[in-house]
Amino acid sequence: MPLENTHLSVANEILNTTLKKELSIFESPELKQLFLVAHYVPDIFSVLNETEYISSYLHGFGSNGEIVNPNLLILNLLDNCVELRVKEKDGEALANFAITMGIVGHGETDIDNHPWIYSLEGIDPLKNDYEESRYKHWLIEGLLHRLWVEMNPLYLNDITKVDWSKNIFSNIGTFLNRIGTSSTLIEKAFKEHLTLFQDFKSDEVYARFTDLAKKGEKPICYLSTFDAHLTLMEGILQKGVLECRHPVTGTVMNEIAVPDIIKDSILSTAEIIKASLEYFNQGTSQARAACVEMIRPLNWSTGFEKYGLADMKDQTKHNKNKLGNWYGRLPSDMQDLFPIERRMITSTA
Ligand SMILES: [Zn+2]
Repeated sequence: MPLENTHLSVANEILNTTLKKELSIFESPELKQLFLVAHYVPDIFSVLNETEYISSYLHGFGSNGEIVNPNLLILNLLDNCVELRVKEKDGEALANFAITMGIVGHGETDIDNHPWIYSLEGIDPLKNDYEESRYKHWLIEGLLHRLWVEMNPLYLNDITKVDWSKNIFSNIGTFLNRIGTSSTLIEKAFKEHLTLFQDFKSDEVYARFTDLAKKGEKPICYLSTFDAHLTLMEGILQKGVLECRHPVTGTVMNEIAVPDIIKDSILSTAEIIKASLEYFNQGTSQARAACVEMIRPLNWSTGFEKYGLADMKDQTKHNKNKLGNWYGRLPSDMQDLFPIERRMITSTA
């Protein structure tokens, strides 16, 4: 299971361990669930045409293709929470706070992990080999989670058993207004996303998708996140320090230790949540200033303020073999799905 599960395990760790005491403000099971679900909300919008732009915006693309950093939006959402609190609309304030903090946690995890993931996938993400880029991107995220989950055995389904009669999205109107969507659409996107992720466990759906990919009727990228496919690729992403090149600057990122880097995301998210709680409770300009300081104005894909996906460069020639012999693991009739020049570069491990 790919990065959604990683986002969830970050959320779970913060809620039940790192900030167990501080986050006891989320008393009801609905609020707790909203906080967990919120950690992958930035991705769920990508499954619907009507909401895809929200996911793109959060991950760094503005509507005119410009580079965006969602830190100002997050601050704005946080201001909304404080405003609701001041108006003594506590239920709404808490729900909006839970979802805003989830967005923060998602962003911190993406900022820490996307640069090295993009670097290993090794392809200019906006060029025409997009499909293969996606294939490797999701494969790496799935394998990262498998490494991480050894320490944190969680499953998406287990902690997001949503009781729709409680309607966890009903109290976040301010948030939905601000990002330009509705509770009907977020619920639709969430259900669709959940179904998609449940399918990843099914060997039957995997067999069907593989068949369609071989016939050219389904993009290959949709195969990499199936459990069966991840099992096929087990071990190609190794634990430990990865000296890959940053896809924007080309400098060696030797501080990357897989999967321990996720611990950094947990710590930085917890720090931001603590500062945000202070602002949420006090509502002072001082407390707000501390949040401004901590919510980094960085692009969620590149990890830089002024660079977007289009600034990334293929680092494959420096990074070769870092992803192991993924190509050799594929059955021969699936190897044909990748262009020959790509196989040469990445299959020599
Ligand atoms: Zn993301």
